Amino acid sequence: MSVNYAAGLSPYADKGVCGLPEKFDSPEELKEKVKKLTEMIKECQFLVVHSGAGISTASGIPDFRGPKGVWTMEEKGETPKFDTTFEDARPSLTHMALLGLYKAGYLKYLISQNVDGLHVRSGFPRDALSELHGNMFVEDCEKCGRQYVREKVIGVMGLKPTGRYCDLVRSRGLRACRGKLISTILDWEEALPVKDLTRAEDASRRADLALTLGTSLQIKPSGDLPLLTKKRGGRLAVVNLQATKHDKHANLRIHGYVDEVMKQLMEALGLDIPKWEGPTVCESLTKSAPLDRVTCRASAKEEGKEEGKQKVKKEVKKEGKKEQRKRRAAPSTNEGQVNEDAIVGVKKERAESPPGIKDEK
Ligand SMILES: [Zn+2]
Repeated sequence: MSVNYAAGLSPYADKGVCGLPEKFDSPEELKEKVKKLTEMIKECQFLVVHSGAGISTASGIPDFRGPKGVWTMEEKGETPKFDTTFEDARPSLTHMALLGLYKAGYLKYLISQNVDGLHVRSGFPRDALSELHGNMFVEDCEKCGRQYVREKVIGVMGLKPTGRYCDLVRSRGLRACRGKLISTILDWEEALPVKDLTRAEDASRRADLALTLGTSLQIKPSGDLPLLTKKRGGRLAVVNLQATKHDKHANLRIHGYVDEVMKQLMEALGLDIPKWEGPTVCESLTKSAPLDRVTCRASAKEEGKEEGKQKVKKEVKKEGKKEQRKRRAAPSTNEGQVNEDAIVGVKKERAESPPGIKDEK
């Protein structure tokens, strides 16, 4: 089943700057820059990667603001081209390289604005991943917060009920939760998932190197997260063909295809890119090694056992809404400025969030 993500969202006037020209570094320049990136990664203690739609174009899913992007085409009155369905899409070289970087211990946390589910389906551990705009394959229970990763796309957008109910039984003999399951896909102006956002912010503050891949960094608050790393004295490397909102803050700016950059980077680090063996869901690698699908699933079960002790997510959601941490395109007026408001808002939100939220399956 193919679901047109863009068509499922509400009409929205300001989608940011679309269709900017793409720039390509020469092969020699690219090689030099990847060498520099390799050094930065070897030197850093805590690498966080921020991924955007540009890493999935090689998988056949269009981006948003590229020359053939969804919003760029919409501005021209044309329809974007999907070369695949979300279910059939295969993770790109970049998705798999990120898994390799994580397994090798270089990458500590991954933050994505992508809703295509490819990070999860590539086997990237969910406890080291924030999906800030939701996931087409994930629905969650509005009552107990349990998340369900499905094989097929949910088909509902805008945090609306999916028509299914939670079948979690917390202890033997008790009835199932039966809470309404809702889509995790954000519409415009909807609050970001608090747990994912809080973890993304914590990781961004802890990071001494932020690497952004295939994102124009125009959507708030996601696009401003790398600035938290800069603010703490960390470095920023940006890989994107088009100009990004925070180019002026970048210590290294690479104009090239993300797959080419990641291929060269993995070679330079002497790392293999893991092979994809079909969609898989891994909750955690740190709690169960070595990696295989069986242990990943087992660890997911272990987490499920603990979740009865955790507070429900409902009140967290309310906090999120109160804080107005909504998804929107950045106004073009404060281009390149560190967003102090966002950072203050974040602190407040963290203070009010109940600790230790877990809602994994
Ligand atoms: Zn439930």
